[in-house]
Amino acid sequence: MAGADTTDLQRPSLVAEDQARDALTAVLVQVVGPAGVSVDLDQRKLHSQDIWSVAGETVEIVVAPAGLEELSRVAAAVSAAGFTIAPRGGGMSYTSAYIPTNAKTVSLDLSRMNRILRVNADDMTVTVEAGCTWAALDAALAPSGLRTPFWGPMSGLTSTIGGGLSQLNAMFGAGQYGTSSESVVALTVVLSDGRILSTGARGPDGDTPFYRHYGPDLAGLFCGDAGVFGIKAEITLRLMRRPQHEGYVSFAFSTGEALLTAMAELTRAGLSSEMCAFDPGLTKVRMKRASLATDVKTLGAVIAKEKNLVSGLFSAAKIAMGGRDYIEAEEYSVHLISEGRSKAGVAEDLDAARAIAAAHGGREIENTIAKVIRANPFPPLNSILGPEGERWAPVHGVVSLSQATGLFEALQALFAEMTPAFEAQGVYVGYLFTALSTNALIIEPVFYWPDVRHALIDATVEPQHLSRLPTLPQNPAAAALVTEARRRVIEICAAFGCGHFQIGRAYPYRESRDAAAWSLIEAVKAALDPADALNPGGLGLSATPTRPA
Ligand SMILES: Cc1cc2nc3c(=O)[nH]c(=O)nc-3n(C[C@H](O)[C@H](O)[C@H](O)COP(=O)(O)OP(=O)(O)OC[C@H]3O[C@@H](n4cnc5c(N)ncnc54)[C@H](O)[C@@H]3O)c2cc1C
Repeated sequence: MAGADTTDLQRPSLVAEDQARDALTAVLVQVVGPAGVSVDLDQRKLHSQDIWSVAGETVEIVVAPAGLEELSRVAAAVSAAGFTIAPRGGGMSYTSAYIPTNAKTVSLDLSRMNRILRVNADDMTVTVEAGCTWAALDAALAPSGLRTPFWGPMSGLTSTIGGGLSQLNAMFGAGQYGTSSESVVALTVVLSDGRILSTGARGPDGDTPFYRHYGPDLAGLFCGDAGVFGIKAEITLRLMRRPQHEGYVSFAFSTGEALLTAMAELTRAGLSSEMCAFDPGLTKVRMKRASLATDVKTLGAVIAKEKNLVSGLFSAAKIAMGGRDYIEAEEYSVHLISEGRSKAGVAEDLDAARAIAAAHGGREIENTIAKVIRANPFPPLNSILGPEGERWAPVHGVVSLSQATGLFEALQALFAEMTPAFEAQGVYVGYLFTALSTNALIIEPVFYWPDVRHALIDATVEPQHLSRLPTLPQNPAAAALVTEARRRVIEICAAFGCGHFQIGRAYPYRESRDAAAWSLIEAVKAALDPADALNPGGLGLSATPTRPA
């Protein structure tokens, strides 16, 4: 009887919810056409997961507008219907940033907004729709000899420019030009109620953005906002001529402390466009994962990149003959790419790097990894699984140059304390270290653990690669241990005053702000998105429960 009573009580509200969803679906179909709206359960589930987590809720509708006007009308319709909007670019983040936190969520799929709208070589700008991937933009610009200063994260085959600005990116070009946000000239943003907001100095027609700074930096407000202030629709980035010359150098160090001291000095010297480093743990994973097939593809890319076939073949032969064991098992390795207008200038930068590395006990090794990274900057995203099919999840801190070794030592102490628990659950850790401009390093512990894969992972990894890996059973104990380890890493980062990219719903942004700054953030949110329709809980703006997969 009690059961029947409850059903009777629930029925009217469930019916009303279904009606609201159906009515909204009909409106969205009118705006974007039937091909742009999905209520298919598998599709909705896929959009309710990121690389780390699976939401307790499932989005109600997936809608994909095909341009600014459609996006504006979609946002207005979704918020007028009282639904939450979760903007999604490539879906390649892992901080529960866009997954639903309530039952009335619409996933805003930006994949159809992927056009390069204008390459303006006179004004040295390029304007793209937010769903354009970094790989697509770089490929389109290459024939013109132009490039954006920051030109993509390693996930750039799938991840989008809108996603990269919403949570900031490191990697290609970041050693010299800083994060993705530092290459922005202007944004066109759709607010949750459908209003359109434009930033920057925009030329005589008001639609030819060419300079970012005109009064307070409104573009900056939306960079790193975790998609909670507005939806990036169109993005104008700065262009530069592609550097004519590149050089590569790699060094090995016997300790992480020596590596980080050298990296800090190399960063201060500003010698490289990219600098990244691995600890022995991550090197082992890379070596185990690489297969003959990827080696052959990689060598092809190295040959194609050299200016002539002979030097290409020579580089490829050196890589093949050097094999994979030029880094000793317990060594830390750093890989630098320098670029410039003249061969001599690049050679000078590499020599300066050699002097700094030698002064800190570095041993020069084959520059294979640096070359391969540049030859194939946007590989398939198979690295989201470990070599035995394990799950993968990074966590990171952006740390000042003076604090980097201290942070590393504190993290090493944490992992030493957790080693017995890690061993019991089959969890292991590696580190990726990257440089940002002349003033910061990113320290990024990466966890691997045996656990079941969710649908987004299967959809991301190449089928051929996936078919070689075992399917592992669900392992809540190992997942809980990694959750705890990530939490403790974030706690340690806070003690070192770190910043974070990809804040989403994972990093303590709110706790790190003073009262005046936080009240400004809340006021901005109230002005731009008063109904809290965009990614509720992002940036810590309201409490949001999420759970790992
Ligand atoms: C294998 C792998 C390698 C990676 N390498 C790097 C790396 O080298 N450097 C690096 O920095 N990161 C890296 N990442 C992390 C991740 O890919 C990046 O953070 C990337 O920027 C995510 O972009 P996306 O388009 O997939 O965004 P999504 O994951 O779709 O979204 C991320 C956030 O941005 C919001 N968002 C997306 N589009 C918009 C929009 N148009 N308007 C408003 N909000 C929006 C979402 O709501 C969400 O909050 C890597 C990830 C993987 C899986």
